Amino acid sequence: MSEQQVNRALFNDVMVPNYNPQPMVPVRGEGSRLWDQDGTEYVDVTGGIAVNVLGHCHPRLVKALEAQASNLWHLSNVFTNEPALRLAEKLVNATFADRVFFCNSGAEANEAAFKLARKFGFDHYGEEKNEIISFTKSFHGRTLFSVSVGGQPKYRQGFEPVPQGITHAKYNDLEGLKALISDRTCAVVMEPIQGEGGVIPAAPDFVRGVRELCDQHNVLLVFDEVQTGVGRTGKLYAYMDTDVIPDILTSAKALGGGFPVGAMLTTEKVAASFGIGSHGSTYGGNPLACAVANAVIDEVTRPEILEGVAHKRTLFEQGLEEINAKHGIFKEIRGKGLLIGAELIEAWHGKAGEFLAAAREQGVLILVAGPNVLRMAPALNIPDEDIRAAMQALQAAVEKKLSKADQV
Ligand code: PLP
Repeated sequence: MSEQQVNRALFNDVMVPNYNPQPMVPVRGEGSRLWDQDGTEYVDVTGGIAVNVLGHCHPRLVKALEAQASNLWHLSNVFTNEPALRLAEKLVNATFADRVFFCNSGAEANEAAFKLARKFGFDHYGEEKNEIISFTKSFHGRTLFSVSVGGQPKYRQGFEPVPQGITHAKYNDLEGLKALISDRTCAVVMEPIQGEGGVIPAAPDFVRGVRELCDQHNVLLVFDEVQTGVGRTGKLYAYMDTDVIPDILTSAKALGGGFPVGAMLTTEKVAASFGIGSHGSTYGGNPLACAVANAVIDEVTRPEILEGVAHKRTLFEQGLEEINAKHGIFKEIRGKGLLIGAELIEAWHGKAGEFLAAAREQGVLILVAGPNVLRMAPALNIPDEDIRAAMQALQAAVEKKLSKADQV
């Protein structure tokens, strides 16, 4: 029996309407190229929203997945398994952490982090130490706890009552945090670069100041590295390029290179507050996910990959600056490594989605970060010629968009 034909129109008939996907349906990917149902080819600089860190169907990841698929898929947390143990050891050896908890997504990694921070506060300082501070514009996921910690109120509107004891300070404003932090605070949560919020890096002084304030008040510092982690900034984790070390770090997205996996990393002392039975996940640490993630870490940590990030960023920057020199549409090009944000000038604010659509029509798939910022989070191994092709297509898209605007 042949499979029934499906298309984009069916989405609206059978899916919950919480997404509005692009009009074409990709069916195949290789490296940083994608093909849709009609055979149209695209350069993909979305990287699956900072997930496909080694591109589509990387041979080493396919091999790891296939080998594990014919050996052992799933056990549950009643047993441990070899891929999970290997992955945990790798992460512990490569970072500040002594202990790892596995889950399936960024939101779940953050859920674990926030619960652990509260439990640690409770265990060491009593039940009053339960307040969590995060930052305006931050994004930490869509579970009720993680969306409440996130600094974008629109995402929790209508879902109230939300968990209590959460406040938001202004990002990159130490005085704002100073005014909120107290001995009742159990955790400060931050993205080293706000991704969804508009690709906004934390200033080095701010990061140092946050760590100092946390230390003064016995507060755990949680780095959400779901978007910045696993090589995106040119280091395995972005904290490695700062002067500070967090107490808890969350990782997901690129960790599985496209296979769902999440992890929370922490110290031995903090981990002790998650005693037996205190938290869990049926799938977390699943052998399939961990086998792929092991291959991701092995590949990403090759010097050629990490060291290539700066060079590839330069090519993107050159391409974007060239477009800007001709058309003056960007106010600022920012971010770090291969997390690239290009904020549109005020005249184009609110129109980032239109540029995304125009780019797709020219054969390049990009992201937005809010209504004003074009975002790119490509594979770290994207070939130089694909970057050039992406920038040429984006330039054509911008030209078309501006000439249409002239005609209006
Ligand atoms: N944290 C950050 C910084 C993110 O960028 C995201 C997703 O965009 C999340 C958490 C949520 O991750 P997930 O969608 O895997 O739950």
